[in-house]
Amino acid sequence: MGSSLERLTQPLTGQRVHIPHLPDYSVLRHCVRCARCLPVCPTYQETLREVQSPRGRLALLKAVAEGMLPPTPAVEEHLYHCLDCRMCNTVCPAHVPIGECILAGRAALAHQHGLAWWRRLVFRHVLISAERLGPALWPLRLYQRSGLARLVRPMLRALPGPLARLRRMEALLPPLPSHPLHATLPTVTPAQGIRRYRVGFFLGCMMSQLFAAESRATVDVLSAAGCEVITPPGQVCCGSPQDDQGDRVQLRRLARANIALFEHLGTLDAIVTDCAACSHTLKEYATLLEDEPAFATRAAAFSALVRDVYEWYDAILPPTLDYDSTPPLRVTIHDACHLANAQGICAPQRRLLGRIRGIEVVEMEAPSACCGSAGIYNITHPDMADRRLARKLDDILSTSAAVVVTNGPGCLLQLRAAVRERQLPFQVWHISQLLARCQHTHADGIPVPGRCGRAAAEEVRL
Ligand code: SF4
Ligand code: SF4
Repeated sequence: MGSSLERLTQPLTGQRVHIPHLPDYSVLRHCVRCARCLPVCPTYQETLREVQSPRGRLALLKAVAEGMLPPTPAVEEHLYHCLDCRMCNTVCPAHVPIGECILAGRAALAHQHGLAWWRRLVFRHVLISAERLGPALWPLRLYQRSGLARLVRPMLRALPGPLARLRRMEALLPPLPSHPLHATLPTVTPAQGIRRYRVGFFLGCMMSQLFAAESRATVDVLSAAGCEVITPPGQVCCGSPQDDQGDRVQLRRLARANIALFEHLGTLDAIVTDCAACSHTLKEYATLLEDEPAFATRAAAFSALVRDVYEWYDAILPPTLDYDSTPPLRVTIHDACHLANAQGICAPQRRLLGRIRGIEVVEMEAPSACCGSAGIYNITHPDMADRRLARKLDDILSTSAAVVVTNGPGCLLQLRAAVRERQLPFQVWHISQLLARCQHTHADGIPVPGRCGRAAAEEVRL
């Protein structure tokens, strides 16, 4: 009996090799090759190649673990073709954590080959906090404000070959706010009316630097709903970009720093973030640090408090909200991959929008299908990203919605760039921008007019 069980848990062929970070072999073996994940995978849909499917990627990792396939850069390249959209996780009957395995595989191969110089530069020195990202963006602010952008843009359009990526990066860049939010937001934003909750606000790097008005709207909506909002200075990146790029060492450093920072805030009802990638990664700290005795319990306590802004709004906002529009504003929801597929959050946003009078919600064909942004995927894999974007735009246009709501900064970048470039007939709003324009009623019965707080002054920036 013992020997047959042993055989079942051993590789079928070859020797098992030890590579740090490689996913647990027993997990890789759970794949029963049923193929259910193939039709939902965007890269398989576009290429119809097994190696570009979730099952194919797991097979690659299994072959590496068995010593049948050397961990070459070519294997690594295949893993980077994945968008990390986690659509595959939602359909696997064997509950294989496919997306997590692929990211672990990237970390394992980065450990073997070393991190590429540009990954080291960007993800260890620049994109590690909103503050550190700031100096990199000032030249771009100058570029936009000086009028240089209008001169340079036509020249960028003519760039050939790999230089065309510069044009793509420039096109993605939204009009930058004059000041990032972390530089202007007070540490404590008091609750309007009776204080009902005390929440920590995790302000993502991208939200602060690129979408300051959107996150300002979040703070205003929370405050109007009776939350005292504490935004501790000194926050660092959640670590999502580092995880995506195989840098688990840096991810752990960032996780420890954020946990220690929020511990100093005392008792909180929740740690809220308005970025879907951040809420997903912050919730993962518990698993990430469970093998570190000094942090395991603290990480579990931290992650247990984290709420995506959709979850928190759904829990605390009044049963009816009013958006002043006749006829009703037609709205569709684009679910960020890290919200719907990775966290399984689909119902709260629909319940929330269902409570707003004056809007009409119309669902698109595949609301949680990736828009092609996927971190920096739209820069590193522009062709595949464009194909995904085209499908998403078709889905949105078929709803005839005037507004698409989402809470992914990458999605905001990707979709707004498409709207600007193609002059499409809809706007892309962060959910807080819609709620800031609604009338709320306080717990103490006092109605708060729409366009609450400073969000009132902010127009939607495309
Ligand atoms: S759905 Fe799951 S079990 Fe089926 S092939 Fe894909 S990974 Fe394997
Ligand atoms: S995460 Fe998305 S792109 Fe990657 S294998 Fe799964 S479905 Fe395909």
